Amino acid sequence: EIALKNNQGVHYFNADDGAYHQRRLTITRRLEQALKHNELTLYYQPKQQLSDGRVQSCECLLRWIDNGEFISPGEFIPIAERSGLILVLGEWVLDSAFNQARAWYEEGRKIQIAINISARQFLQPGFAESIERRLREYAIPASLIELELTETSIMDNHQLASAVLMELRALGVSLSIDDFGTGYSSLAYLSAFPVDKVKIDRSFVSQMVDAPKQQAIVLTICQLAHNLGLKVIAEGVETDVQRELLHQYGCDFLQGYLFARPVPASEAVTLFN
Ligand code: C2E
Ligand code: MG
Ligand code: MG
Ligand code: MG
Repeated sequence: EIALKNNQGVHYFNADDGAYHQRRLTITRRLEQALKHNELTLYYQPKQQLSDGRVQSCECLLRWIDNGEFISPGEFIPIAERSGLILVLGEWVLDSAFNQARAWYEEGRKIQIAINISARQFLQPGFAESIERRLREYAIPASLIELELTETSIMDNHQLASAVLMELRALGVSLSIDDFGTGYSSLAYLSAFPVDKVKIDRSFVSQMVDAPKQQAIVLTICQLAHNLGLKVIAEGVETDVQRELLHQYGCDFLQGYLFARPVPASEAVTLFN
């Protein structure tokens, strides 16, 4: 059974359900058009450093309004992954984000942009080279770019993933593991991968105040990351109580509606300091 969310709420489809199949085809077709006509945009959600409140980095997130209907990346990204369209879409995201990084850099701002990378895109031959080429073409320091990879995209093919991560590391871009804790993480691999940061999944953060077990998981991830010399960021922080606990746990950065929602670049820029 597959859960799909749209602006009417969550709908459940069986994988062989005709309605799901139809929706998938429609989304694929419209997404191709949207790419062709440049109807996608990136929003930017700031990340705040907990120790001093400074904001010098953000994550870019795809936004797509199709004939007045907001379609969530939570719905269309998995569909694009299945059809292979994610490769073209991923290229568009990279160019768009590098372009923004370049624009801020030219204004004299040192803002790091984190870009979500799908497994298929990451494992595509030549991925690291495509990042290297963009660093050259857009003429920005590698430190202004972070790549967010999910735990599963690394774990499912850990040998190849490890080699690609090494190449990316050598370029000087930052690397983080997104949605950490939701896949099956092997601690042995975590210590072997050349990443800089782990991102605690929102599902733990949202329950940490009321559920002692989720709270223990958050604390443990913070400690584990620090023991391995990694930074840790919490996603989906919505309340002061969550923020306070994360601060106590030594979490390095936070991201969430409490501080800021994803917004257009022109708005995001007012939040950096
Ligand atoms: P993600 O990378 O884990 O991004 C975090 C998601 O949580 C985003 O949803 C963000 O808007 C949302 N979020 C942030 N703070 C809060 C909060 O305080 N409360 C709540 N309820 N939500 C919060 P969004 O933008 O809908 O994106 C969903 C997923 O789609 C992303 O999860 C990522 O996996 C994927 N995605 C988005 N943009 C891209 C992209 O450019 N490329 C790829 N490959 N995937 C993308
Ligand atoms: Mg992300
Ligand atoms: Mg995430
Ligand atoms: Mg997540």
